[in-house]
Amino acid sequence: MEMLKQRILQDGRALSGDVLLVDSFLNNQVDVKLMQAVGEAFARRFANAGVTRVATVESSGIAPAAMTALAMDVPLVILKKSASRILQDDILQTEVFSFTKNAPYQLTLKKRFVQPGDRVLLIDDFLANGEAAFGCIRLLEGAGAGIAGVGAVIAKAFQPGMRKLREAGYRVEALAPVKSMAEGKIEFE
Ligand code: 5GP
Repeated sequence: MEMLKQRILQDGRALSGDVLLVDSFLNNQVDVKLMQAVGEAFARRFANAGVTRVATVESSGIAPAAMTALAMDVPLVILKKSASRILQDDILQTEVFSFTKNAPYQLTLKKRFVQPGDRVLLIDDFLANGEAAFGCIRLLEGAGAGIAGVGAVIAKAFQPGMRKLREAGYRVEALAPVKSMAEGKIEFE
């Protein structure tokens, strides 16, 4: 997706060899017009995948996932990173290791928002090692849903997540697949 790649080159900052800062349009401030285009791009790519629901992980996945759900006219399900006191019953949980926080958390799905037979499109802002995506897949499949595919706004292709998901048989689409990163230099596949 050319518009997204240009924006990453213009405003993204490679903090190190493996962390990309995109706080000005995706993580801390959201360019909603760009996210609308992101949602439409995912909707086009997965148009024939029989998607009945979009799912994402709070919080940075919500903007691109909401726009995708809107473009596909399906509900959006949000997986939480911890179980609150008002989210006790009807939940599935799995431990996930956070790339950005470098610590584990309990990924939580409220089961009744996914039906057996659903085909879920999983959307997230980044795909790195695939921990978050595999955690979501464990929970969604545990609830009886099928995975229509995984869409990453940005996938760091030099990290193993994308390859592992594909090896496990899942369809992965990355709108901006980053081949390599160094301070001041970002290259796409
Ligand atoms: P994974 O679970 O695939 O290792 O990492 C994906 C999750 O970590 C995403 O949900 C995203 O929030 C975060 N993440 C991974 N790499 C980056 C990065 O380079 N920059 C930012 N801002 N977040 C990242």
